Formats: sequence, structure tokens, C-alpha cells
Amino acid sequence: MSKLMISVSGIRGVVGESLTPEVVMKYAAAFGTLMGPGKVVVGSDTRVTGPMVKHAVIAGLQSVGCSVVDVGICPTPTVQMATEKVGECGGIIITASHNPVQWNALKLLSREGLFLTAEVGNRVNELVASQNFNYVGWEKIGKYETYAHAIADHEQAVLSLPYLNLPAIQKQHYKVVVDCVNGAGAVMLPAFLRKFGCEVVELNCTPDGIFPHTPEPVPENLTQLCDRVKAVSADIGFAVDPDSDRLAIVSDAGAPLGEEYTLALAINFLLGKKSGPVVLNASTSLASEDVAKKHGVPVVRTKVGEIHVAQKMGEIKAAIGGEGNGGVILPDIHLGRDAIVGIALILQTLTEFGGTISELKATLPQYTIVKKKIELGQADPNQILTKLLQNHRAEPVDQIDGLKFLKPQAWVQVRASNTEPIIRIMAEATSQAAADDLAEKFIQEIKSLI
Ligand code: MG
Repeated sequence: MSKLMISVSGIRGVVGESLTPEVVMKYAAAFGTLMGPGKVVVGSDTRVTGPMVKHAVIAGLQSVGCSVVDVGICPTPTVQMATEKVGECGGIIITASHNPVQWNALKLLSREGLFLTAEVGNRVNELVASQNFNYVGWEKIGKYETYAHAIADHEQAVLSLPYLNLPAIQKQHYKVVVDCVNGAGAVMLPAFLRKFGCEVVELNCTPDGIFPHTPEPVPENLTQLCDRVKAVSADIGFAVDPDSDRLAIVSDAGAPLGEEYTLALAINFLLGKKSGPVVLNASTSLASEDVAKKHGVPVVRTKVGEIHVAQKMGEIKAAIGGEGNGGVILPDIHLGRDAIVGIALILQTLTEFGGTISELKATLPQYTIVKKKIELGQADPNQILTKLLQNHRAEPVDQIDGLKFLKPQAWVQVRASNTEPIIRIMAEATSQAAADDLAEKFIQEIKSLI
């Protein structure tokens, strides 16, 4: 039986085990008690458990006097934008993002359409624990309405970006394969791509929530897309996760660019149009950092997690930012990771470049990231990290998120997992062999400390 995963940005669990209607209703009632009364936007991805969870969310919200604005099946960034536009006190997205099909989750949004900060998220969790809900009588029960324009609003906002030249992209008649993993992107992306004059080959674009492959858009899960790109001689392939906040690219040669390059390409393009600081999470590739430095703008790193990046971006008025796992954040649209924004920027930069996407990627700094883990058993991860830090105290170490040892054109990040008895190791260097070597050195050292 899997445990309910509780974080400041919401809850996540396996339906039928930890994620029950009772649990969902309590979280929605707690959220409404804290944020309401007023309108709360509710949207979901395509998971088959979505309607069950949504009914519990609606009941919880209405019971504490919040009115529900149901935007239906939408990408996560679309729900975020709708919350900013038509919500009064926040939003709830029903999606377990890239988790497998048996999972579902609530992601809680502030009235600005941002994920909750730790402070507000903790207050929701405290209210759930105390069950001190503001249940109202019949005369104050929240109303219910639908809002059918969320996708059109989002699309319009992106298409209106001043640095997009739609006729120029349309002239290219790009052949594009798009893999929506039968998630929420399926209700938006094929039609959106056709607005750019693309010939669209739809792959897994039935919004039925039955994921045909492991849904995280990392290279090992994109073999079907790679094969299709080659089979139809497409110019580019796009893959999104089930809630379409992460975007991965497959080249004209049918090879994954690696999700880090979505953000690096977007930053390189945007900084050619406007200047401003860039915010990246601590695990994002040096490719993005090098690109920003080439354009002469400052780079600020934050902890991993969309809200940390988004908050810092708002604070320092960043031009662009995001997370290296394919999460592009463009403040001109909104402060959330957005695959739809990513697609628009990539098509524009490809058009301006005039070559293929493989050639365009080759113009960027080339890095490889490897990810490893070490099983800890009963060992205390904090003690191990403390000893590791002592061993390397003479070297530059960034402690924003775990321990990140900074090397010339390389780094190693060592973090304790919050959910499993393991230590995660990420290493980046200018080649696969160098990244593997670096990771291996730290693995051996950590094993000697257990
Ligand atoms: Mg996601």
C-alpha cells in the first residue's frame, strides 16, 4: 500500500490506496477555508481517475463556500493562466504530472496562478490535520460554472508574443510529430501546431488518459516518437508529459535532444530579443547558464521546484527561466512551466536559424548529465553529507539544494531523497565519459562513508 505523499504544493497518491475521495475532499475543504470564499478554478489532465477526484474537489470547495469555475481537461499552464484570469482565490489542478497512470494528485495554486509557497502550503496541511473547516449552511454553499475559453485564452496569449513571426513560421510548412502520451496536451497541441502552418503527425493524441508509454518525457521513453519522426521524415518531434508543462524535443535525425536543451534553446532565442536576468534551478544544465552568460546577463540558481524558480523570477524581473527537465518559464506569458510556450519559441528560433534542429542544437554548448543513486539502508544521509562536505571543504560548494561541487565546466550534485532511503547523484560534464567518471568518483567516496 503506497503512502499519501504530502508536500507544500499539494498531495499525491495511488488511487484506491492512499488517494481516496475522503482525503481529496478534506484537502479541497482546507484549501477553500484558507483561501476563500470566492471563485476557485478547477482543471484536470486526462487520467481516468480525474472525474472521481474532481467531484470530491468540487464538493470540498463548495462545502466551505467557494464557487467552482471548471475549465475541464487542460494543460497545467492553461489552468494556471485561467486561475490568474477568472479565479478569485486560487485554483486546483488535478494531475499527477509525469507519474504513472495509477497516480493522481492535487496541485494547489494561489490567486496569481502560482504554486503555493511553503508557508501557505503548510497552513493548508495544518488545516487538514485540525479538520477545522469553515463548513457553511445551505444559503452559502458555493456555486458551479464552467469556463470554456481557457485553452483559447492561452493559445491567443502565446500567439500574440511580439517576438513571434507567425507568417514566417507558416512559410516553413514544418512536418512535426507530436506525442501527447494521451494526456492533456492532446486537447490543445495538434490544433495549436496547425496554427503555425505545420503538417502535424499525431502520436498518442487521444485524450483518454491511457498512457501508451512511461509518461515522463525523458529519452528512454521517447523511442516511439523517435521512430515515427524517422519514418515520416519529420523536421522535428515534440513530446510532453501528461499535464504539458514539460517539453522534450526529438531531432530531424530521430534522436532526443535531451530535455535540458529545450530550455537552453529557449533561453538562447529569447535573450536575442530582450535582455534580463535568467533564473535556473540548481540541477539545470550548464548549457543554459553558458548561453545566458554569452548574452551577458546574470544567472541566479534556486532550489529545485517550480515555485522556487517562479518566485525568484518575479522578484528579480527575469527575462526567462525554468527547470532543465523541459520546463520553460516565460514571464511575458505567466510564471509557470509551459510546454506550449516552449513549442512556440522553438519553432521561431528554428525558422530564424534556417537550418535543421540538429544543426541548431550543435551551435549550443555541449554537455551531458548523468543521474545515479546509492541505496543507504539504515545509514543517515545527513551524516554522510556532512562528512562529504568536510572532505571537500577547500573546494567551491553550492548548498542551495543538497551539495553541489563546482568544477571547471562540470559539477556534481549530491542530495538525500525526501521519499526513499537513497542519495541521488547528478553529474554534468562536457562528455558522457567525463560525467560518468565524475559520478563514479563520488559514488565510491560516498560508499566509503556509509
Ligand atoms: Mg508535469
